[in-house]
Amino acid sequence: MIRIACLSPFRVICLSAICLISGTQAVQAQADSLDDHKLTEIYTPVPPVVTPGKTPSDAPSDAIVLFDGKNQDEWVSAKDGQTPANWVVAHGALTVNKQFGTIQTKRTFSNYQLHVEWKIPKDITGEDQARGNSGVFLASTGAGDNGYELQVLDCYNNKTYTNGQTGSIYKQSVPLANACKPPGEWQVYDIVWTAPVFNQDGSLASPARVTAFHNGVLLQNNFELKGMTRYRGKPYYKAHGPSPIKLQAHGDKSEPISFRNIWIRPLP
Ligand code: MG
Repeated sequence: MIRIACLSPFRVICLSAICLISGTQAVQAQADSLDDHKLTEIYTPVPPVVTPGKTPSDAPSDAIVLFDGKNQDEWVSAKDGQTPANWVVAHGALTVNKQFGTIQTKRTFSNYQLHVEWKIPKDITGEDQARGNSGVFLASTGAGDNGYELQVLDCYNNKTYTNGQTGSIYKQSVPLANACKPPGEWQVYDIVWTAPVFNQDGSLASPARVTAFHNGVLLQNNFELKGMTRYRGKPYYKAHGPSPIKLQAHGDKSEPISFRNIWIRPLP
């Protein structure tokens, strides 16, 4: 301030003019950079080519097919993770064998995109949770129902608790809609799963997240899970790595449901 006060009026005018010019140049340079569209364009790395299926339900070229209607070779018992799956394969479908129990993939996964089709039998009986109950466990954390369950149930005309209806993250997240088709029709789940990440000491670094569509209708929108889904008590996390995916054989007395056209795309 003192030095400027000592300048002659002529020099102050000159300095002001220089400041004005350089300020104008900066504004002009910024405008030029906005005009140059190439400055904001990215050319590498190039995304891989994936050839889509004939319809959005058909497996794209990079998918791992977990059930193609012919055999259950990709599946084992969830009791021991070893015994070959023994559900019923017929007419291109994989039908739950309640005596055999829940099955899981031989392979393990972290993040992925999963496509699963399922059908409630036309002659389904029962009510509430005992009507076509099954589930997709997005990651198994142990035998039985340990893991993170996306509920499968007949809710076409069947009341139950909303955080346990079709497309709920069981007892954690009420689905955004009820998009059930009548029993006897094939239905579709398209799921994006982001696995939880754990620190070396077993504490949670980032929670699991899920987005799920049912028959093309969004039911779960990037929902952040509070932990494993549980029948009783509050959810919590227990550290784990890549995990199998399970299909539930529920213990209720209603007729067994069927699955078909199951494929998965592991994601980074
Ligand atoms: Mg279930």
